[in-house]
Amino acid sequence: MAAGITHVRGKLPGPRGRKLLERWHRFEADVVGYQAPVVWKRARGCVIEDVDGNKFIDWTSGVLVTNVGHCHPRLVKAVRDASGKLLNNYECANEYRIQAAEALVKALPPHLNRCFFLSTGSEAIEAAVRLLKRKTGKYEILSFDGSFHGRTVTAASLGGLPGPKSRYGPLMPGAIRVPFPHPYRDPQGWCDDAPRFDKYFYFLESAVASNSTGSLGGVITEPYQGTAGFLFPPRGWLKRLEEWACSRGLLFVLDEVQSSFGRTGKMWAMDHEGLKPDIVILGKGIGSGVPVSAVASTAEIFSALSKGEMSSTMGGNPVSSAAVLAVLDIMRRERLAENAMRIGDFMIDRLRRIAVRSPYLGDVRGMGLVMGVEFVLDKKSKEPARELVREVINRCARNGLLVGAVGTHQHILRVAPPLVIDRKEADESLSIFERVVKGL
Ligand code: PMP
Repeated sequence: MAAGITHVRGKLPGPRGRKLLERWHRFEADVVGYQAPVVWKRARGCVIEDVDGNKFIDWTSGVLVTNVGHCHPRLVKAVRDASGKLLNNYECANEYRIQAAEALVKALPPHLNRCFFLSTGSEAIEAAVRLLKRKTGKYEILSFDGSFHGRTVTAASLGGLPGPKSRYGPLMPGAIRVPFPHPYRDPQGWCDDAPRFDKYFYFLESAVASNSTGSLGGVITEPYQGTAGFLFPPRGWLKRLEEWACSRGLLFVLDEVQSSFGRTGKMWAMDHEGLKPDIVILGKGIGSGVPVSAVASTAEIFSALSKGEMSSTMGGNPVSSAAVLAVLDIMRRERLAENAMRIGDFMIDRLRRIAVRSPYLGDVRGMGLVMGVEFVLDKKSKEPARELVREVINRCARNGLLVGAVGTHQHILRVAPPLVIDRKEADESLSIFERVVKGL
């Protein structure tokens, strides 16, 4: 147990937590992934308190959601005010929705001059694909092995991970998938010839030539692959991909559901390479805990849809819209993207030093406040260390740090605290992690 912000008394779950956890799945199906045995009660900023009064530093942000910190007072007030006035109005105009659309478009790169609000990331993916198909009149979309775009059929079909589509077929026709370049595991040497990546794009051309029926309309990618294990493509690859798409008349679609709203140290991940995607999908941090997502594009692309062709029962509701406005305001006032960059640099540096001293930390990678720590059984063979990560998650929780795992083998630790994290919180949480790793 660390002295300071965190505080865990006795075993986890504590007595109240244990009772609640036993009750939970007698009613709600037990189908979610593995998490530390903690029942959350309240949270503020980066600190979570459970039902037994234990306090943890949060390295999860939910799942990269609470970018402005848990229950930011301005966000809570905005949601309270809006919900006291109007809870839903379907497609009718409301003041909050209009203000939120204006604020979001003004915060986006200038070419993205229209947006549309929906409720979840997967729903926004569906809407973006609808837009792409209507604009191009084509039905094939290029996507990447390892990508995660959600759990609805379209999103699962485009996605390159087994989870969302396993025994869920048949899937949407037209998804053409190719590998994603990733420096840590790069058997083909695709990352070596940066910044042109000629080898990779030669391969891409032949994959398209042998798989497309001639109806390829666009390319969709995450700027980095989150659910696959925080895989960051080498710098310049995204720009080259965009150029490749543009040269073939394809729409370039960027899934920024988890990479936006300051997470990577810039407001949008596309800012790092000056990308100009035709369609961008937003979610998670946009409401920082309030359910809302959006598709952003150009007026010209949106004009492919007639009135009534895009709609969502909850999309653009006053409460979510008030949240978007508050989040944008907080991001600016508190310079959270800059904080993500500053504290992110500090954290990744320390994590890399911890990795050098441990036989199990094969790779530490990241950008701003999104980092992946890959656990392997052996640094040479790079065999995934799934069981070890589960043990790390449990030991971290027992010591006051909440963290989760990603990747097909669940062997990559997800380090993504709320962007309001300060040096003291970063320091204390890193010390907990270091102690846990030393004790393995
Ligand atoms: N795209 C990406 C990049 C995501 O990370 C996620 C969620 N993890 C989604 C889409 C789907 O979002 P949701 O769970 O809100 O449907």
